[in-house]
Amino acid sequence: ETLDSNAHMTLTERYAAHNYHPLPVVLSHGEGAWVTDVEGRRYLDCLAGYSALNFGHGHPRLLARAHAQLDRLTLTSRAFYNDLLGPFAQGLAELTGKEVVLPMNTGAEAVETAVKVARKWGYVVKGVPEGAANIVVMEGNFHGRTTTIVSFSDDKVARDEYGPFTPGFRSVTYGDAQALREAVDDSTVAVLLEPIQGEGGVVIPPEGYLREVREICDATGTLMVADEIQSGLARTGRTFACEHEDVVPDIYVLGKALGGGLYPVSAIAANHDVLDVIKPGTHGSTFGGNPLAAAIGHEVVTMLAEGEFQQRAATLGGVLEERLRPLVGRGLAAIRVRGLWAGLDIEPGGPSGRGLSERLLDRGVLVKDTHGSTIRIAPPLVVTEDEIGVLVDAVADSLA
Ligand code: PLP
Repeated sequence: ETLDSNAHMTLTERYAAHNYHPLPVVLSHGEGAWVTDVEGRRYLDCLAGYSALNFGHGHPRLLARAHAQLDRLTLTSRAFYNDLLGPFAQGLAELTGKEVVLPMNTGAEAVETAVKVARKWGYVVKGVPEGAANIVVMEGNFHGRTTTIVSFSDDKVARDEYGPFTPGFRSVTYGDAQALREAVDDSTVAVLLEPIQGEGGVVIPPEGYLREVREICDATGTLMVADEIQSGLARTGRTFACEHEDVVPDIYVLGKALGGGLYPVSAIAANHDVLDVIKPGTHGSTFGGNPLAAAIGHEVVTMLAEGEFQQRAATLGGVLEERLRPLVGRGLAAIRVRGLWAGLDIEPGGPSGRGLSERLLDRGVLVKDTHGSTIRIAPPLVVTEDEIGVLVDAVADSLA
């Protein structure tokens, strides 16, 4: 029996918990930048799995690698070695310029890993009295959904009624270097930030801010931890968003596109002086670094090492910005674009973010609101210039 879209939505609402409020479209196929619903309607995917689909749906190289690995070996656990983790770890270390990586599965797990490593490093290397470590985080952050991570979120909806919360975090205004300077003390082990706040609405900090964060961390012996889960891996036109300011963090936190949109793959990358605080038994995951994940992740880092996706994001990002710019003052209050990543603030009196997303859905374009009146645009990096035209025309029509 084949179900139509309405039947699928009813079934999902009935049996799956309501932790999301999806747009009313039921997808069944994807190829490149396009997805198809169960009635055969096609949509340009301008969310790209929150940037997990940087290479598009079903990239042939990733599919081939995954299919081949499925037939060979999928899971060993880390109780044994496997013949994929070494090459993947080497490739990721080379891509990040770091000495070692620690593989996990989801983004939130990688953030948790960075928090644990920073704390342990604080006690073992920096000499912070045990139990006293603090980590400075940014207002408006989004780092995931675990109890510790929502402990330092300021999003009421994500946080309320989930306490008691994990202590040891301080929040400062994003983009304000002086506030950060004042918050860091002898017990600060890390500054954790997104180089561009994705869920916050593609918020780009003031020019020079990341360099100042780096200087504050250097001056105080504090780890700079960059959550590049959404901003990294070519989305902004560079491999990492930190590169726009020539900044190298002590820990990269990676996820989403690391699994090519096929599989959850995350990791942190750092040097020995940081990551060697982790000893056997102190941290781990059944699935982290499994052969299937490592095969896909290895193909992803090999593709990124070639630089084509970064180049596409940079060039097409320029096209996107140029075409969106005329809409400012004609439906849009502001736009923020970095590579193929854009936050669009809708003018007061216009549709809500949700409303605009629904209008775009009717015009065959998928996006998602981040906040009340902001939508985020993040097409797969395989999108073409013509398809960017389709997207921008649909935005203009939807605002008119
Ligand atoms: N960090 C950032 C910057 C993210 O954007 C996200 C997801 O949106 C996460 C962490 C959490 O990743 P996951 O949903 O895979 O746990």
